[in-house]
Amino acid sequence: MPSTTGSKVRRWDQHGREHVVRVQRTGIQRALHCGTCGWRKGVQFLPWLKAQEHLAEAHQATVDPAGSRT
Ligand SMILES: [Zn+2]
Repeated sequence: MPSTTGSKVRRWDQHGREHVVRVQRTGIQRALHCGTCGWRKGVQFLPWLKAQEHLAEAHQATVDPAGSRT
C-alpha cells in the first residue's frame, strides 16, 4: 500500500512548496480537491493515484514527504 492512504495526498515540488489534494468519500465515488489550484475531480477507482498524477502534471510536485527519508 502507498503511504498516502489517508484522506489527503501531499507532495512537494522542487522548490519545497507543499501541495495537497484532499480525498473525500461521496458514496461510491471519491471527490478530489486540490488546495493549490482548486482542481476538482470525481473518481471511482484509485483516487490517490489520480491525485498524484494531478500533482505531478499540474504542479511538478513529485516528492513524497513521508517517503523522503532514506
Ligand atoms: Zn492543483
